[in-house]
Amino acid sequence: MRKITIKIAGLLCLLMGFWGCSKSNDPKPVLPQKETTARHQGDRDHHKLKGKEAVSDSTIRPLLLDTAQLVDQGIPMTSLSPALIHQLTDTEIVQRLVDFGLEQQDAQYVVKNHRQDALTVAQDQHRLMEGVHYQFGIPTNPPASWGAILAGPMYWSGQAQKNIQRMFGLIKFMFNAPKFKQVFNRNLGLLQQYTFNGATQAPARNIPSNFEAFKQVANHAMTNGGKNYQLFLYSQVNGGEAYGDLGGELKVYLHEHGVATGSFYMTAGLLMHEITHTWGYSHDGANVLLNPNNIPYYVQAVVAPGFNTQPSVQGLLQSPKWPSGADVDMFTYYFGEDMLRGLQGHPY
Ligand SMILES: [Zn+2]
Repeated sequence: MRKITIKIAGLLCLLMGFWGCSKSNDPKPVLPQKETTARHQGDRDHHKLKGKEAVSDSTIRPLLLDTAQLVDQGIPMTSLSPALIHQLTDTEIVQRLVDFGLEQQDAQYVVKNHRQDALTVAQDQHRLMEGVHYQFGIPTNPPASWGAILAGPMYWSGQAQKNIQRMFGLIKFMFNAPKFKQVFNRNLGLLQQYTFNGATQAPARNIPSNFEAFKQVANHAMTNGGKNYQLFLYSQVNGGEAYGDLGGELKVYLHEHGVATGSFYMTAGLLMHEITHTWGYSHDGANVLLNPNNIPYYVQAVVAPGFNTQPSVQGLLQSPKWPSGADVDMFTYYFGEDMLRGLQGHPY
């Protein structure tokens, strides 16, 4: 049953170009095997049901309702010192963002084009993913419980490491970006409690009341996990293009081919999806896999509306367009099409 389930899930993920998947793997093990199997059963059901029932689900609402009011407004900076803000030069803002994890060229671009938002992130004293690092896992056979999912451990090429490193910095910025927070907070009504019940970390078992509550859950998990992500690359990944560990460890497993051929914002959105799994968030429940009513897909939808153009997915949700009216994902909005092009489809 488990094998069949994985095959079905893999096929559908491939057909839809839809990447995010989770696995309640537990190398140590936190989850009993029975629960792991149940999750896969649930995933199969999601796929099976989503075609018609998801579209007709009247509870699904547009993800973003009013882009015009959000563009370039930033968020209130009530916690910041106005005097200090005005004293910061562009160079100082860039340096703060570089210290946080952004590459120099990306920091310069966002400061030049979206100074207020860049300043907000640069000044934030309590950033999500602050102090979080990552390392590229050396090729190793997957843990026994992942044997049906992962195969063909690979070394990270130097270029792949550079790309992921840059992407990680952009993701850290995005999780703290004013527009991400705005869209996140404005559409929380899309989330449904039953999709949270499978969370492996207690704080992640409820819909966050706002972005700050979400951040607390994330910080809790990352502190417990030692603030260090391990990123593993495999030539074969069944059932999806990536997996985030739900077992309380900060581990993300990526499919080499999928990562290599995906557009930047899709891959970055996928990584954000998987990272939220490592914070304990799952997407359990029937008929939810492609609906934005669980945190992993919700986060992905906020930043990467492109997957919404897939025929099988179209109509399930509407994602934000940045700037208002333009068909551009949030990464492109902040960092520019030209800046991101070099990361797209790069051979790994
Ligand atoms: Zn997932």
